[in-house]
Amino acid sequence: MTTRIGVYPGSFDPLTLGHLDIVRRGARFVDRLVIGVTSNPSKEPMFTVAERLEMVRRETADLGNVSVVEFDSLLMDFAEREGATLILRGLRAVADFEYEYQMAGMNQQLNDRIETVFLMADVSLQPIASRLVKEIARYGGAIDKFVTPAVAADVAAKLVR
Ligand code: ADP
Repeated sequence: MTTRIGVYPGSFDPLTLGHLDIVRRGARFVDRLVIGVTSNPSKEPMFTVAERLEMVRRETADLGNVSVVEFDSLLMDFAEREGATLILRGLRAVADFEYEYQMAGMNQQLNDRIETVFLMADVSLQPIASRLVKEIARYGGAIDKFVTPAVAADVAAKLVR
């Protein structure tokens, strides 16, 4: 039997409970899930790639078939390199649709052997966005409903520096 490998790319700046829910759901239907942490310099991240790698590794350590790597290339090249046949993306309401639709469509043109699969997080976790988590934290709001306690501590540590 062939091993089904999926990649889940993102910036994870920081990793939220929404991301983690997508990881858990995704890990159930692939044999191996490779989380790809992008450097994405256009987004001016709060955390360096090394910090995000460590954060995602720590928070997914209990999932035996999940690994975490950095990638800084075309998504399709990354997926090929990992031997993946699936790209997982999370879809939140309408806001994500246009961008995700375009990206999946263009990626399909680049490589038709790799399918993009969209998953929905648990309804209670769908509104969560890394960008808003950072904004709330910067203004002193509580983010513990949106991230794990360890990630909340990571964000707090960034803000006191
Ligand atoms: P990117 O910069 O690639 O958009 P993100 O870290 O923001 O990276 O998100 C990675 C993926 O996780 C995207 O597919 C995004 O739509 C999805 N995602 C993020 N937050 C949620 C959420 N709360 N529910 C479902 N999917 C989500």
